[in-house]
Amino acid sequence: MTARIIDGKAVAAVVLDKVRLASAAFKDKTGRPPGLAVVLVGEDPASQVYVRNKGREAEAAGFRSEQHTLPVSVSEAEVLALVGKLNADPGIDGILVQLPLPKGIDTERVLLAIDPAKDVDGFHPINVGLLNAGAADKALVPCTPAGSMILLESVTGSSLAGKHAVVVGRSNIVGKPVAQLLLQRDATVTIAHSKTANLAEICRTADVLVAAVGRPEMIRGSWVKPGAVVIDVGVNRIPAPERGEGKTRLVGDVATAEAMDVASAITPVPGGVGPMTIALLMANTVTAASLREGLPRPV
Ligand code: NDP
Repeated sequence: MTARIIDGKAVAAVVLDKVRLASAAFKDKTGRPPGLAVVLVGEDPASQVYVRNKGREAEAAGFRSEQHTLPVSVSEAEVLALVGKLNADPGIDGILVQLPLPKGIDTERVLLAIDPAKDVDGFHPINVGLLNAGAADKALVPCTPAGSMILLESVTGSSLAGKHAVVVGRSNIVGKPVAQLLLQRDATVTIAHSKTANLAEICRTADVLVAAVGRPEMIRGSWVKPGAVVIDVGVNRIPAPERGEGKTRLVGDVATAEAMDVASAITPVPGGVGPMTIALLMANTVTAASLREGLPRPV
């Protein structure tokens, strides 16, 4: 069997088309565009690239887009003051504080300070609680897990009743929320992590295998059940001397070439979950804007 490659770029483009339409409709109804503010503290080069891309995508979606860059030396109080100002700004619907924050700034305190109605990353305990209480329709759901589910559903349809889903990884950002979303689709869910025994055996029982580990190609083809759908969230940069001295390339947490011989469908890295994350951030922004204005969820 050769697995179908799930094209994250194509699915993300469909999501972004819907966001653009929803954004225009929102502006027609309210007289203003949805507003997204991204806060970057420090000069981490990867974060700078992410923030730039988010700004570009927000503009393409017709949003009011703001970027606030603070020096690495900034105090926690100053970051909190900026979050407070953005909370109070009626034209801002989404606030994203780019992580990681520099040492000395308490990430939890900053995330807690964001108005849950503007928490487009879905990391505030209110949104986490709503998701875990089975009320994802009232929550802002973290972007990578929500995007992973759309890719999965493009293959399986919306019901996972009777299916066993194994999620490898239990972070608050990916593993746990994706497990909750799978549960809400009626899958039987196993969450595995670094202390799990017999990981390969457990993975071999998965009809749906979600890898969110951060270890390059850790999940081998022999761990994949024939016919499984594999969602590879991992993004790992590894040396690629075959491309020239000092060159690198991106790989996932799954050994894709091996898994392709066994799985029925698989997300590639790059070009799978990655493009979905930013598309879902835009979707969350227009959703937050609509909910704040008392309008129905648009996407
Ligand atoms: P974390 O480091 O926060 O979590 C990793 C999880 O994997 C932990 O639960 C850890 O277990 C588990 N783990 C680590 N080693 C093993 C092992 N040997 N066997 C089984 N489980 C293990 O990472 P994130 O969840 O933030 O990210 C996971 C991956 O997804 C990374 O590659 C990251 O780059 C990628 N990512 C991609 C995004 C995208 O847009 N495509 C967005 C976000 C993340 P334990 O809890 O026991 O330590």
